[in-house]
Amino acid sequence: MATTTMAETDASSMQTKTGTKYVYFFGGGKADGNGKMKDVLGGKGAGLAEMTNAGLPVPPGFTIQTEACREYMRRNAVSKDVDRQMEEALAHLEQLQGQKLGKGDNPLLVSVRSGAKFSMPGMMDTILNLGLNDESVEALAKRSDNPRFAADSYRRLIQMFGNVVLDIEKSAFDEVFDNKKKQKKAKLDTDLDAKALQEVIAEYKKVVKKHAGRDFPQDPHEQLVMARDAVFRSWNNDRAKHYRRINNISDDLGTAVNVQAMVFGNLGDTSATGVGFTRNPATGGKEFYGEFLLNAQGEDVVSGVRTPVHILELEKLMPDVYRQLRDITTRLEKHYKDMQDFEFTVQDGKLYMLQTRNGKRTGIAAVRVALQMVEEGLITKEEAIFRVEPNQLYDYLVPRLDEKGKIEVLTKGLPASPGAAVGQIYFTADDAVAAVHKDKKAKVILVRAETTPEDIHGMEVAKGILTSRGGMTSHAAVVTRGMGKCCVAGAGEIEVNEKTREMRVKGQTFKEADWISLDGTTGRVIKGKLDTLDPKSDDPELLKFMGWAEPFRKLGVRANADIPRDAIQARAFGAEGIGLCRTEHMFFGEEKIPHMRAMILANNEKDRRAALKKLLPMQRNDFIGVFRAMDGFPVTIRTLDPPLHEFLPRREELMVDIDMLPHYDARQKKSLVSKYRDYGVKAASDLKKALPALLSRVEQLHEFNPMLGHRGCRLGITYPEITEMQARAIFEAAVAVAKEGVKVHPEVMIPLTATLKEMANQGAIVKRVAEEVFKEKEKSVPYMVGTMIELPRAALVANEIAKEAEFFSFGTNDLTQTTFGFSRDDVNKVLPTYIAEGILKQDPFAVLDQEGVGQLVEMATERGRRTRSNLKVGICGEHGGEPQSVEFCHRTGLNYVSCSPFRVLTARLAAAQAAASDQLKVEGGRTK
Ligand code: PEP
Ligand code: MG
Repeated sequence: MATTTMAETDASSMQTKTGTKYVYFFGGGKADGNGKMKDVLGGKGAGLAEMTNAGLPVPPGFTIQTEACREYMRRNAVSKDVDRQMEEALAHLEQLQGQKLGKGDNPLLVSVRSGAKFSMPGMMDTILNLGLNDESVEALAKRSDNPRFAADSYRRLIQMFGNVVLDIEKSAFDEVFDNKKKQKKAKLDTDLDAKALQEVIAEYKKVVKKHAGRDFPQDPHEQLVMARDAVFRSWNNDRAKHYRRINNISDDLGTAVNVQAMVFGNLGDTSATGVGFTRNPATGGKEFYGEFLLNAQGEDVVSGVRTPVHILELEKLMPDVYRQLRDITTRLEKHYKDMQDFEFTVQDGKLYMLQTRNGKRTGIAAVRVALQMVEEGLITKEEAIFRVEPNQLYDYLVPRLDEKGKIEVLTKGLPASPGAAVGQIYFTADDAVAAVHKDKKAKVILVRAETTPEDIHGMEVAKGILTSRGGMTSHAAVVTRGMGKCCVAGAGEIEVNEKTREMRVKGQTFKEADWISLDGTTGRVIKGKLDTLDPKSDDPELLKFMGWAEPFRKLGVRANADIPRDAIQARAFGAEGIGLCRTEHMFFGEEKIPHMRAMILANNEKDRRAALKKLLPMQRNDFIGVFRAMDGFPVTIRTLDPPLHEFLPRREELMVDIDMLPHYDARQKKSLVSKYRDYGVKAASDLKKALPALLSRVEQLHEFNPMLGHRGCRLGITYPEITEMQARAIFEAAVAVAKEGVKVHPEVMIPLTATLKEMANQGAIVKRVAEEVFKEKEKSVPYMVGTMIELPRAALVANEIAKEAEFFSFGTNDLTQTTFGFSRDDVNKVLPTYIAEGILKQDPFAVLDQEGVGQLVEMATERGRRTRSNLKVGICGEHGGEPQSVEFCHRTGLNYVSCSPFRVLTARLAAAQAAASDQLKVEGGRTK
């Protein structure tokens, strides 16, 4: 297959004589489309075309392209051309197969599946066994000599069709099925015989009539048209929309629909169905990896309802099929030059390939597979750089369980997605979400028998997922790996009872909110709340991989870190300096906060200076720690920025306490003393005077809009002694460590400036104090004074500000806030609707709004450098660690990005990929 040449997508293949080509046929050894046409055919359709062209055993069929879906979304109907082309393709399929859809002794049955450009596992709808009706079910029974199989296929069709096409609740069918099992005293579904299933079919038809107000359609062509349109509609179901939002997939793409001749994995013990990977998707190990079920249909494997068997068992049961499968998948991997995720079915001993695509994998697996493939000569080092999504490197930073002391392993499941998770158990997605709503810091483990796409919101808030059923390719496993979240799947010894909110394992019962610990790397489920250990970022494979990527990188990568511990961590992850040290965060320590509060509450300069004097040595010590950790690298320290209310008691609470004070006994007064100790209250006898005084100061400081209020450089301008103290602490610390031999480069950063004069005012204080300290200590160090660009006005007059500022750092959190006029703390009230309505594609506080805020960044950079050609420019808002935003910063010619320590690796790779993409003229690792 490696020798097969691929036809390029060309414009003419998209056109028929009459207009758009909507339907692409595949079968009989050739296909209209090819593997490159993912935009048009979706991932699945492109894969089917490619496999067909390569001569693989693929059941024939046709793909209705994504444009038909987009049309359907626009007009609520498809054009006549789509119907006509679909009928022509169906006629072609019937001719090739020598069968008629749902007719005759050997009826053709088809599957109707969704398939978008980007894989969205289980989010959209599928219909199997289409073409069955009251007549063709008889023919199928005769032909397969298996009336039970025929009846089971038919009842599955009515159920799926009823649910997906006619919008009937699944439970309406489940009720019928469960009652029949009870009535027949059947334990398993498979215990129901053909006669019982025929009774189920009769009742299912009644369910359809009752809920949909019409009969189940007996005309196979009508079934096909209705199923196609339902699959188009499923592009816009809630879970698909939700999945696209999380994975940043555009709502405009639409899905293709694949109609394909059915093959049956449930014709008896010479039939099977399975899924697999050419390498281990969790670890990247080079091993044939997969699962199958004898006598089953595809959805039984993927949905995780039955726990499948390891693929190596297939060698014992069907050695020829196994060999053929190995051979085909090895060729597929060579052909696509990437790890493949494939689906197959064996019908009566004959192997069919249903799907292949590049497999999703963990970050650790992505790095390992990339390294292996370079060694195997499949790809170049340059291509390898693009085989890892920058966000995936987070997997190297996931924690492990701290296993000191005795631990009680309750059971072992499959290590579906690595890392560790410790949390309280919840049994439904809604309960998990409610727990997190109640307490933002709640650590939740979602425990389910199996997950389905409906659980996605619970999975998103959970720290980890535990399921009692399902394999490594079950829904839970695939989705959590994509989310980089710990998952243990198929822990069969656990009994989960969603109704009573309990799980039982090894004779013990666990209730809602009990603590457990999960190890997603080994599959162990451990009783109780273990500690977690920080991960290792010096894995040799990671270092080798980064060693290939890093030489391309142009952007510097720094970290936002406020305390020495975080600075040390950041340096270990490869940070080349600190891009933002938020000095107010240094005051959160227990011994510092009372002085900070005293400083804010002071209503005259003398008191303020007294409080600042106490803060000075503490702040100096913190700076010393950070400078030592960053020896040789620059450290950007921002002067005080926060809105003052963050450090004050809440006004309403204070009023209540004043009102209640006369009614309080000694014990209650004592508790008030400790509540207000940080505000200078020392004894109960102080309360009567101190609380009203505090209230009056709080009222003086009260602001209607603190984010736009007395914060940023406005603090240092109104209270210059604050900037003086901070500058003194910075330079005294710098000189002290310089005397130890540490190479120190402080960059003092003034927040929230909007005018040149603000910058000049604060810059002058910093420079004056620097000179004073250098003189006193008889030593000087190199330093710079610059500003944050966080206001649109600052971007507009950047050429002016750059006269005084030696560097700029974009505070894109505030810049996004002030450009959109969205409050960054309250935006979540509107954001979900904005995203659901497509008004915004992404959260602009997470992914930089290149179109709007980005313009200000570009403009300020250009204007600033017009004044000062060597102006150093960076970014330190949250966007500094987000891959698309990093790519934007690279394009805009910034000097560095700065992000939280845990995103440093991601930023390094994103920056390297952006530069490599320029230099190598490649996109996603392939030539542009
Ligand atoms: C910013 O506004 O982007 C920034 C980094 O500052 P802060 O988040 O502290 O306001
Ligand atoms: Mg800010």
